[in-house]
Amino acid sequence: MTTKSKKSKTVSKKKKATTMTSDAGFVKFVKELQLIKEEFPGFEIKSKKDSKFCSFIKFLLTILTFGKCDFDKFSTLFGLTLYVCDSWNNLMWIERYVIICHERLHLRQIRKCGFGNFTIGKPIFSLLYLFLPLPIFFTFRGFWFEKEAYQESTRLLKENKMNYNLDDFVKQFTGPNYFWMFPFKKTVTKWMK
Ligand SMILES: [Zn+2]
Repeated sequence: MTTKSKKSKTVSKKKKATTMTSDAGFVKFVKELQLIKEEFPGFEIKSKKDSKFCSFIKFLLTILTFGKCDFDKFSTLFGLTLYVCDSWNNLMWIERYVIICHERLHLRQIRKCGFGNFTIGKPIFSLLYLFLPLPIFFTFRGFWFEKEAYQESTRLLKENKMNYNLDDFVKQFTGPNYFWMFPFKKTVTKWMK
């Protein structure tokens, strides 16, 4: 009985591995992750749940947004680390591929802010991203950094024939998750189309 269940476990594991490698999304994800790591050595993916730093940010955002920020529902990039939420493992590989491409765009933005130097770019990017020209509504993160990154996401979703809800993207700009980074729904809708 035990042997049998062990055997069937092995078979199902093998099956899962075959399904994964034959999944075009998985292949794209692995390939892209490799490319990102080559372009940005030190890039890694970690769980948000295990990070004390993320718990602190979550605490801050909960206070600042009166509990409205769903910090546990989206991935967040800090430096070279992409912190992912619990649902990461349930996402399709192609969705994970789109997410890491979105984050690569941010990594490139950081490097650009440092005139080609990532380390110099980090504090400059953070300052521009969080506080300028204003910390809320009229923000560089809204009409520059996230606009560019989410346009990359929607482009890739379309390219891979994935359905997406435009309203979900609009809400990211106009809602509390990114601290109300841009208020004009119609403009964001145009950007994301
Ligand atoms: Zn982003």
